[in-house]
Amino acid sequence: MPRPLCATIHLDSMQHNLARARACAPQSKAWAVVKANAYGHGLERGMKGFAQADGLALIETENALRLRELGWTKPILLLEGIFDASDVPLLAEHDINSTVHSLEQIKMLEYTQLYRPIDVHLKMNTGMNRLGFRPDEYAAAYKRLRAIPGVRNITHMTHFANADELEHPRLTISEQVRRFRTGVEGLGGERSLSNSAGVLHQEVLAQELQNDWVRPGIMLYGGTPGGGRTAHDFGLRPTMTLSSEIIAIQQLEAGDTVGYGSRFEATGAMQVGVVACGYADGYPRHAPHGTPVIVDGMRTSVVGRVSMDMMTVDLTPVANARVGSKVTLWGDGLPIDEVAAASGTIGYELMCALAPRVRVSEGRMGTHG
Ligand SMILES: *Cc1c(COP(=O)(O)O)cnc(C)c1O
Repeated sequence: MPRPLCATIHLDSMQHNLARARACAPQSKAWAVVKANAYGHGLERGMKGFAQADGLALIETENALRLRELGWTKPILLLEGIFDASDVPLLAEHDINSTVHSLEQIKMLEYTQLYRPIDVHLKMNTGMNRLGFRPDEYAAAYKRLRAIPGVRNITHMTHFANADELEHPRLTISEQVRRFRTGVEGLGGERSLSNSAGVLHQEVLAQELQNDWVRPGIMLYGGTPGGGRTAHDFGLRPTMTLSSEIIAIQQLEAGDTVGYGSRFEATGAMQVGVVACGYADGYPRHAPHGTPVIVDGMRTSVVGRVSMDMMTVDLTPVANARVGSKVTLWGDGLPIDEVAAASGTIGYELMCALAPRVRVSEGRMGTHG
């Protein structure tokens, strides 16, 4: 018998969420972002779940090649571009679109003979201050890139710092769009601005956000990009349910403590359940007492410290709890964002941190566990 811990991936929810993204930005083509092992869901499952996307976007060249091996024939975009000149021939050979964010990358393209034309996304830094050319440097970078014979289409790209908060006090979407417009003035070519938060605001900002390509990530995995609205509010469905079982039950008396650090102390007689899931599986070690968890369909909470392979939960609200009771750590019936918020992080991090040792299967919601 395998360990009962399992991550069930809901491909149907992935399709649904992609359809939601498309409905928000009906005029745009969509890159489904599958970086970080498809946000922990597995690259191949990302490819299957987002088969209807216009392209897949990720970080590593080797994973782009893997998508080609798996049979993905539509566009692929490297979101940070290439890391070394030796990658340039691979772009041509496997028809991979590359982001170009630096002069170093332009030089790599200049120095390497491209035997087949490639498409690139030229990145503008409109205030995020990670990657890209500043608006006042942008036209020069474009011109230099345009002069490279092997470069075919150049899409103008930028990334939002605060798309989840329309009225951000430091840097608004509108200000970034204004800078972007200034930088691309007079240059032809398609445009790509929005991540999930931008896509979800597309309805409000349709005029400003003229995206030829959108780049949704977290929303496709049923997570909220933030901004105080839940994934459910946005009509998104969970795509990953992490489930396990109770493997032991302890009867506590008042004064008994649980786990490392004896951090939880019972104030009266109670039962705690030991769940086969710990931080080495990707469950957040910092999940405090009170972090929600579902046992046998009843909502209850984490007690004591999460350890490497196990965690303990309060069985008080679960009338018939027994060894073998089903546990949902997140997903179907328990939004990952709630677990993340209780643990001081975001759904993105929990998904991506799912550990390789966790068994993964595919199934519709309601069929896991
Ligand atoms: C990760 C990433 C995205 C997707 O962001 P979400 O917030 O997950 O939607 C879009 N564009 C770029 C450049 C990214 O790196």
